[in-house]
Amino acid sequence: MFDYLLTEEQKGIQKEARAFAKWIPKEMILDMDAEKIQFPHEYLREAGKRGLLGVRFPKKYGGRELSWIDEGLINQEISGVSHSLSCLWGVGAGLVADAVVNFGSEEMKQEIVVPIAKGEQYAAECLTEPRGGSDFFGATTRARKDGDDWILNGQKRFIVGAEGADWFMVYAVTDPDAPPHSRLSAFMVPRTAGVETKYIYGLMGTRGGGAGRVFFNDVRVPERYVLNGINRGFEVFIHMMVPERIGTANSAIGAVRPAIEIATKYTSKRKAFGRPIKDFQAVGFKVADCVTLHDAANSLIYNTTLAIESETVHPNRVRRMVSEAKKFATESSWDIINHCMQVLGGIGYTNVYPIERIMRDIRLAMIWTGTNEIMQLIIQNEWYKEYEKVISKSDRRDIEMDAENADQDDEKVYE
Ligand SMILES: Cc1cc2nc3c(=O)[nH]c(=O)nc-3n(C[C@H](O)[C@H](O)[C@H](O)COP(=O)(O)OP(=O)(O)OC[C@H]3O[C@@H](n4cnc5c(N)ncnc54)[C@H](O)[C@@H]3O)c2cc1C
Repeated sequence: MFDYLLTEEQKGIQKEARAFAKWIPKEMILDMDAEKIQFPHEYLREAGKRGLLGVRFPKKYGGRELSWIDEGLINQEISGVSHSLSCLWGVGAGLVADAVVNFGSEEMKQEIVVPIAKGEQYAAECLTEPRGGSDFFGATTRARKDGDDWILNGQKRFIVGAEGADWFMVYAVTDPDAPPHSRLSAFMVPRTAGVETKYIYGLMGTRGGGAGRVFFNDVRVPERYVLNGINRGFEVFIHMMVPERIGTANSAIGAVRPAIEIATKYTSKRKAFGRPIKDFQAVGFKVADCVTLHDAANSLIYNTTLAIESETVHPNRVRRMVSEAKKFATESSWDIINHCMQVLGGIGYTNVYPIERIMRDIRLAMIWTGTNEIMQLIIQNEWYKEYEKVISKSDRRDIEMDAENADQDDEKVYE
């Protein structure tokens, strides 16, 4: 994030996050990567003690009433140490707690958000199912009413933090005959009888964060644990996709920042043919591309974050911008880490430097929280809608009519 845009308070938050990043033990990062740790409880407790969880939420729920920019700053600093840790930091206290703050009862906020903000509990988000993640409406996990409760049956997969979760935010079909938008409900399910988690995936990267399969076998959930009312899960989903996707953009771009610095230092010191390799344009230009992509992605993230924060920008436009930021930042991060590995030569491919781990870790960012193909679909849909409703009606000069033969309507054939 750009230091000259930050207020003194924001610089203070960044400093707190940097101090926390320094606290994170190297062994924890290596043990998570080696999957000796399956869920780092100690890390969340420390983040909670330092007041770095759920920072946007009201103080009465354990937050600090900070801004979205502040949250992004913390995310980038943590991700600079470990992408996996920033994912855990974001899912529980950034996404699920956000849904409870916005759609839960006062009782739920006290019961769920307060312990999450202290780092004493963790909540996983359960959207993806074995039969598919992109098709949200195709969910097959079912909930049927039984007295005052709901009985859940189904499975979710690739759930970050499943191993350590105390709560599971689950989307389930409550009205199979309703149209897609009013078929699903969002439940806060405690780890209770019938909930089973399995740590089964050999992940390429972003390891040690407890990503697993979750089974719901006749799980009884009181109706008071429904967010936003029955059959209104879609509104919760749409709301959550904002913190989820801007969070992914921040964590991807935060993760590659150290790689650019390592590449800069290495190419300044490493010599070939009697010169520092940075003096070869083939090398120095790759580093220049990294810095440009990093700045461009951060600009888009910053601008989008301001749009989210303003609460005056139309939600559809915010949705487009968030999707652009997620897609651009995650693809830029991939290009950046690839360049960084290349300019280090063979040693970049080894674990003498953390470049290879960062590369394995951030590949996930183009897949999860909505694939980049889905981001493109959203951008396309929202842009065409916006063109139709707003842009085509703007008070700008109609440049189409500045072509020499612009008035030849017979030549403007569309069908
Ligand atoms: C490590 C990890 C952690 C994760 N954490 C979580 C989590 O905590 N909670 C959670 O709910 N999920 C989580 N996910 C799931 C993730 O969000 C999904 O994997 C992702 O949304 C894609 O769903 P899918 O794997 O079922 O792929 P599919 O939906 O089957 O898609 C396969 C391919 O088809 C493309 N595709 C599908 N539909 C379209 C379309 N309409 N147009 C164009 N292309 C399309 C996709 O872009 C993709 O390239 C995680 C995944 C991983 C790997």
